[in-house]
Amino acid sequence: MSGPSRLFFALWPDEALRGSLVPLLKLQRGCGGRPHPPANLHLTLNFIGSIEAQTRDCLEQAADAIVLPPFALTLDRFGYWPRPRVVWLGCSETPSPLAALVGALNAVVEGCGLQPERRPYHPHLTLLRKARQMPMVEAPTLHWLVDAFVLAESLSTPAGVEYRVLRRWCLRNGDR
Ligand code: ATP
Ligand code: MG
Repeated sequence: MSGPSRLFFALWPDEALRGSLVPLLKLQRGCGGRPHPPANLHLTLNFIGSIEAQTRDCLEQAADAIVLPPFALTLDRFGYWPRPRVVWLGCSETPSPLAALVGALNAVVEGCGLQPERRPYHPHLTLLRKARQMPMVEAPTLHWLVDAFVLAESLSTPAGVEYRVLRRWCLRNGDR
């Protein structure tokens, strides 16, 4: 017996990249707000929302059919969204394989009867919530060799939101 779960597709940093991201949480000193717990750092590809197990099965099966190559992602800019007051790290250029992956996942979501995302995609890793302002320092340049994507669950706990990786799919070249 399991009720609905709140799911999203994401890129999950490996431990090395996470290690490079964690010091950025110190931006809180200048920007205020709440830093994201280090274990929560991720890049959302497609937010699904609350769904039943049956829909999750559909999503997983459809995602099994995705054949897209690994790609390099350069994280090199900070951004600030004033309404949710979120400070994030993103990329000045969205690589086309990332856009292709997001497009494929959008099709997966739509194919399983869910509403696809209509807003333009802005790749970002949330660093701070409820922050006052944009960082006044330059962003580092971090190179991410993206070789997988995940399906993650968002869990509300008394200690705050927690994410759990449910499944991981490797990116691969189809012509071999
Ligand atoms: P909380 O909502 O409790 O502050 P959270 O935003 O980290 O926590 P979720 O709301 O479960 O957790 O979201 C999981 C991920 O999906 C986050 O990266 C969040 O930014 C993203 N997300 C949530 N809602 C949407 C949405 N409507 N559209 C796009 N992305 C979303
Ligand atoms: Mg949220």
